[in-house]
Amino acid sequence: MKILIVGGAGYIGSHNVRLFLDRGYEVVIVDNLNTGHMSAVDKRAKFYKCDIRDKAELKAIFEKEQPDGVVHFAALSLVGVSMKQPLEYFSNNVYGMQILLEVMKETGVNKIVFSSSAATYGDVEKMPITEDTPTNPINPYGETKLMMEKMMKWCDMAYGIHYVSLRYFNAAGAYDDSSIGEDHNPETHLIPLILQVPLGKRDHISVFGNDYDTRDGTCIRDYIHIMDLADAHVRAIEYLLKGGESQIFNLGTGDGQSVNEMIVAAEKAVGKPIKKEYAARRAGDPARLIASNKKAKDILGWEPKYSLDKIMETAWLFHQKHPDGYNDK
Ligand code: UDP
Repeated sequence: MKILIVGGAGYIGSHNVRLFLDRGYEVVIVDNLNTGHMSAVDKRAKFYKCDIRDKAELKAIFEKEQPDGVVHFAALSLVGVSMKQPLEYFSNNVYGMQILLEVMKETGVNKIVFSSSAATYGDVEKMPITEDTPTNPINPYGETKLMMEKMMKWCDMAYGIHYVSLRYFNAAGAYDDSSIGEDHNPETHLIPLILQVPLGKRDHISVFGNDYDTRDGTCIRDYIHIMDLADAHVRAIEYLLKGGESQIFNLGTGDGQSVNEMIVAAEKAVGKPIKKEYAARRAGDPARLIASNKKAKDILGWEPKYSLDKIMETAWLFHQKHPDGYNDK
């Protein structure tokens, strides 16, 4: 079986590429390398440098490769940046999806697994969040992910393109051998920023808000290991290949950690104290996001395996080995 992975050089994409290859799939990667890294590309996969908005090039790749399915990670994903540059997000994410779906329709590829986000839900009162929770994104990033889901829904109805949309909570950790991991520029995510303190790259971690209505006043998130996410993608493709109907699934552990608890977990992995300072709230941050993962368990047979300790351990190994990221740009 041949899977075309769009955005396979990015953080979540590159870990998926590994797992699909390890599970015996033939993998073709399409990535424009704007935010992805060539160093993260597995040599066993075939690689095309291409922006999915370049329809002629993308279509030529599809015609040549004739994949059995597509897994789509190629999107901009920083909430804060999206608030300032929404049009870039609409172009990369929404227009990119439009071209991808056009090419799939025109080349007869009718299965897609999509990298969606808990940001589609917005600020939710009732936890845990189920797939039936109303979607009210509070930033352009989440809005684009929701629009992309809706595009797939209508294309399923009109053209029979079946999809599985996976709404991730907080992707975290790295591949066990620490050869690939998280490297964003700019880095805005909590775990890499915490670990920059023991790496000597930052004096302290700023905790964005300690006056939330949570157990310790700091925001609560559901951190899920990147290889648990990858496992869900392989299951989702297998589900579609077996003829499964289109679905949306949450991917999270079902458990939440506060920012302060994450710092304590990092101190445990690193073996020394990590300096923190309380700072103002960050705009667009909901107090609490915790997934109900029952649907993915029931339908995909998915079960997260990595503990919080393992998430921190693998992240710390990767960042120690790559203190300046991949350094390939
Ligand atoms: N956060 C923080 N300090 C930082 C970066 C993040 O306190 O330097 C908090 C942020 O407010 C959120 C949580 O950590 O509550 C996770 O943020 P991240 O950007 O990693 O993921 P998000 O939940 O925004 O997708």
